[in-house]
Amino acid sequence: MENGRLPTVGKPIRCRAAVSRKPGEPLAIEEVTVDPPMPHEVRIRIICTSLCHSDITFWRMKDPPGCFPRIFGHEAVGIVESVGENVDEVTEGDVVIPTFMSDCGECADCKSKKSNLCSKLPFKVSPWMPRYETSRFKDLNGEVLYHFLFVSSFIEYTVVDVAHVTKIDPATPPNRACLIGCGVSTGVGAAWRTANVEAGSTVAIFGLGSIGLAVAEGARLCGAARIIGVDVNPDKFEIGKKFGVTDFVNAGNTDNKSLSQMVNEMTGGGADYCFECVGLASLVHEAYASCRKGWGKTVVLGVDKPGSQLTFSSFDVLHNGKSLMGSLFGGLKAKSDIPILLRRYMDKELQLDEFVTHEIGFEDINKAFELLIEGKCLRCVIWMGK
Ligand SMILES: [Zn+2]
Ligand SMILES: [Zn+2]
Repeated sequence: MENGRLPTVGKPIRCRAAVSRKPGEPLAIEEVTVDPPMPHEVRIRIICTSLCHSDITFWRMKDPPGCFPRIFGHEAVGIVESVGENVDEVTEGDVVIPTFMSDCGECADCKSKKSNLCSKLPFKVSPWMPRYETSRFKDLNGEVLYHFLFVSSFIEYTVVDVAHVTKIDPATPPNRACLIGCGVSTGVGAAWRTANVEAGSTVAIFGLGSIGLAVAEGARLCGAARIIGVDVNPDKFEIGKKFGVTDFVNAGNTDNKSLSQMVNEMTGGGADYCFECVGLASLVHEAYASCRKGWGKTVVLGVDKPGSQLTFSSFDVLHNGKSLMGSLFGGLKAKSDIPILLRRYMDKELQLDEFVTHEIGFEDINKAFELLIEGKCLRCVIWMGK
């Protein structure tokens, strides 16, 4: 094929994608076409991508917002191939990280230091590009392929809105940079930006999956003195120690005590910061009950089933003076905070290598799904190859 040698700017690109055609079924590597970027959009050649649990959640989803055929993937790094009109922020050849959260820089929320919830291009689970509500992908029969989380990185070339693109230092190793697109940033950011963990404080983390471990890493970077990991799997303590976990509560063996009783006893009245990283309303209640009266902060990172409710006694809320916060993408503002995290990685402060348990080629992408589902992996990096 001579296609690769012809200028691609302004034209559709034919390339390979891992297409998810039916819920829960292996992805198929197919030839697809990727339209050129519209105004405010960027077409990116993906170098590395990694698999996150949200990809699996939506890949399994038979009912809306699940939809097929779709191109998943939302943790990635790539090189700008071309840009649409009105894009000055990045140019051909720049190394970028696409993110599911936008950072438009113009709306009241993006201008405020207090929020990362852009209201111009708000976060939602959409099958389209954010600005035009259309797709840039088609299969060779002309059928539309849906986008995922405004990124869709299980493809050689993707199109992303410039508000969802952060330019990074090209010296950053791509098989580490891609992790910053979702999971690790969410956990580290929750400790650093959302909770603002202070040096010397005590932290309790409910659920030591990759997000919980990333919270531990963030708390460790913030100088937390004590990091209590809570999980049903005792093997997680050994893994957690690498990320600063100092104490462990085996949630499967608590001598008939509640988890909050355990944490309250261990800390003499509750942790300063608690993080729920599983996605269970009952565990949010335990986390809230585990943080210290007066100043304790509980941060919710897990996603429970749609419609699930939290119920608190108004007496407890009034008398205990605690805070409860949600945190999307760890409260990070992509364009300003991603470069800080990557610099801290290059300065050997932030650990990223320890999250990468597997690296595979694009054609083996279904292996990444198997590894994550079996719980054998924190992050599997997928190299797109040439
Ligand atoms: Zn905004
Ligand atoms: Zn994710």
